[in-house]
Amino acid sequence: MTPQLVQNIQHRREVMRALLFIICLGGVSFFTINIYREIYFLAFLELSYSIYAVALLRIISKTDNFQRWVVAFLIPLYSLILYALYLPETSKSMFVWILAFPIVSYLLLGKKAGCLVSVLFLMTALIIYHVKFLTMQGSVDIAESLNVIFSSALMISFAHVYEKNRESNEVRLLELAGTDSLTGVPNRLKLYESYGQWLKQLKCGQPTPMSVALIDLDHFKTINDKYGHSAGDEALRHVANFIRAKMPANALLARIGGEEFTLKITEVELAQCCDFINELRKELNESPLVHEGKVIKITFSAGIATYGEDGTSLDALLACADKRLYIAKRQGRNRVCCEGVHEVKTSNKVLC
Ligand code: GH3
Ligand code: MG
Ligand code: MG
Repeated sequence: MTPQLVQNIQHRREVMRALLFIICLGGVSFFTINIYREIYFLAFLELSYSIYAVALLRIISKTDNFQRWVVAFLIPLYSLILYALYLPETSKSMFVWILAFPIVSYLLLGKKAGCLVSVLFLMTALIIYHVKFLTMQGSVDIAESLNVIFSSALMISFAHVYEKNRESNEVRLLELAGTDSLTGVPNRLKLYESYGQWLKQLKCGQPTPMSVALIDLDHFKTINDKYGHSAGDEALRHVANFIRAKMPANALLARIGGEEFTLKITEVELAQCCDFINELRKELNESPLVHEGKVIKITFSAGIATYGEDGTSLDALLACADKRLYIAKRQGRNRVCCEGVHEVKTSNKVLC
């Protein structure tokens, strides 16, 4: 199966598993203690939550709605801890659970939702703590008050900075993983991901046409041999920029091999797609690369395959486009082959 450049939530599942495990053990322990202390309602809630955690341990490894389950678990859990903190029978040590809120929330919910949930519950916890423990003593102990405020602020700042950097690093790595470093256009991985997304949309909505053009530069080895490897690199960038500037907004250009590019064009019929690639070919003929004062003429040949008629998987479409590309090469290069593998129609500058 093709790797997908989707946000990886695997680490969140692992954090959630660890949390559920601790909540199971903690819940059962506190249930026993609170039965002994005759705090029956809290004991009942703790036992119920342990059972809920056991059920979730099975669900979270498979579910596609991971984020929803996290919210459905964290909000009642935090509320339960706040309720326990509020009860007259509980001690100040309950606050250590509150300090874990930011880390758990950011790790499981990400930067935005994690921030919202942490701030909301931490503020409420601080209010409960001050009302219950500090004002009841008659006078507010400033040092104690500052201890809980600053330790809470420290935890939330640490979790925020950590998650912000982790998220931006992840986005950057995903971008790099899907980009060709020489030309800056998407690579094969990104092409497959984009195709997968298009297929998903297709299954949900109206059928739309889609074609894939396999573009291979002609006699590229000669450019390298004649003008040097750096000129070859420059030629690849020139072609990538040239196509990118001309292609429709909904098309995706990817470099999938040495001097091979693929253009995925959606929402246009095959005939229009062929006309467009052929036009591109003619325009590139008229736009040579000027490298170190030398004019380097670049041409390409292309084979085009269309979704449905020529296959439904990207591999099948690329295989069909490759056969047509081979025909275009065999017939003299600098042309586009759009139809059939047996009854072949090619178009070149003479035809257009
Ligand atoms: P054809 O018209 O049949 O496609 O001939 P060709 O010379 O284009 O094809 P061939 O497969 O013989 O050669 C491709 C060349 O592309 C060989 C390789 O050195 C060169 N190449 C592949 N990747 C790069 C690259 O990143 N930079 C440069 N400069 N050359 C590259
Ligand atoms: Mg090639
Ligand atoms: Mg070539």
